[in-house]
Amino acid sequence: MRLYVQCQYCRNKIYINSPAQLRGELPFQFVLRCQQIGCSVYGRDAFYTRNEVFAETNVGGAVSGAIVLGALGALVAGPIGAVIGGLIGSKAGSNTDELDRKAVERFNSSW
Ligand SMILES: [Zn+2]
Repeated sequence: MRLYVQCQYCRNKIYINSPAQLRGELPFQFVLRCQQIGCSVYGRDAFYTRNEVFAETNVGGAVSGAIVLGALGALVAGPIGAVIGGLIGSKAGSNTDELDRKAVERFNSSW
């Protein structure tokens, strides 16, 4: 499972590097930076709330960027953490796909 918000400006997904399994485990509000070159808020802080965070399964897709959440805001991590996360995800077998899908459902229905 990986978490993302949609950029409020360019609608691209901004991936979050977080172990949270439910929305309630995320800070209520935090800062993310869109990694999309050409976005009107590229490289600038934008505020999001955890209600804007969604989960998706780890299967396929390139990760464009990742942010590490801190309790008192956010640390900009760059894409390296996301690449590592993607490698770990791709090593997982199909057994974990089902677990992953359930975790995604649970996250997306949480508050
Ligand atoms: Zn953007």
